[in-house]
Amino acid sequence: MLNIPQISVIIPLYNEEQNLPVLYRELVAVLKDLNKSYEIIFVDDGSRDNSFETIKGLFREDENIVGLSLSRNFGHQVALTAGIEHFRGEVIIMMDADFQHPPGIIKDLYNKYSEGYDIVNTRRINTRGIGFLKKITSWMYYKLINLLSDSKIEPFSSDFRLMNRKATEAFISFQERNRFTRGLVSWMGFRQAVIDFEAPRRYTGRTKYTFRKMFSTGLDGITAFSSKPLRISFYTGLLIFLAGIIYAVFVVINSFRGMNIPGWTSTMLVILFIGGFQLLSLGIIGEYIARIFSESKSRPIYFLKDKIEKERKNIASQSN
Ligand code: UDP
Ligand code: MG
Repeated sequence: MLNIPQISVIIPLYNEEQNLPVLYRELVAVLKDLNKSYEIIFVDDGSRDNSFETIKGLFREDENIVGLSLSRNFGHQVALTAGIEHFRGEVIIMMDADFQHPPGIIKDLYNKYSEGYDIVNTRRINTRGIGFLKKITSWMYYKLINLLSDSKIEPFSSDFRLMNRKATEAFISFQERNRFTRGLVSWMGFRQAVIDFEAPRRYTGRTKYTFRKMFSTGLDGITAFSSKPLRISFYTGLLIFLAGIIYAVFVVINSFRGMNIPGWTSTMLVILFIGGFQLLSLGIIGEYIARIFSESKSRPIYFLKDKIEKERKNIASQSN
């Protein structure tokens, strides 16, 4: 029978080979300091560098490491899910591989958890090395999502958090493919706490969140938790329709009074405005339909290509 580790650390990573050995050493130092038994689950999200080889190397040193390798790059949120689904510990701690979630904060997470919380979230109070633009768009995004959605998401929250077994099992029971972890966790309830931390710069490498990935994760966050955009486009459409009727009456009266001036500008404005709004509404509907489509196919969320862990020690191909 396997011993259940007290802490499962879950780390999704994409092309982070240089960060891994340093991160591993610092993590172990912190976990030993806490005097807790642990496992560290590295999820290689289809890296193109030698990240998985590096994980295998670390595993030879320390059998408390679990290495999962996804069959391709599925994205941070899915890699996180894969890791969480393999947890065995009493609590899990999910964090990034680039030191922007400093291992030292794990002690604070654990202390807060000991006060009797099921979930301990974190909030970045400052992030070194990110541009003004990223800060302001991030802030606007959280404002927008909280305006649109019924479940509240803390601004500047991050996917650096602790969850106990009960909350983790609840999280695993989510069936959806569209996975915006922050939103799902906030929606779950339980006893939740937040602690603040200052995020340093990346240790090495560049951000793996391209603008495209960020935009798509952001859109997932909104569409997964709110149907208000659909309603807003409906109401705006209604408003424009009513305004159109009033304007039509005005135009008819004017033409009876013989004031039929050629109104190219106003016609163009109306066409552009209504045309633009129609396309926008169609786009919003399209986004929701695309998500219904992707959920309705019920495809597996990810595939595992390789797995290394204590019991087997060798590499077993397995799908999930
Ligand atoms: N990541 C991943 N798959 C991806 C993109 C990122 O597993 O497709 C990992 C990445 O290696 C890191 C974490 O997700 O451990 C956060 O990514 P990153 O640091 O690049 O994002 P940022 O901190 O710049 O928002
Ligand atoms: Mg980062």
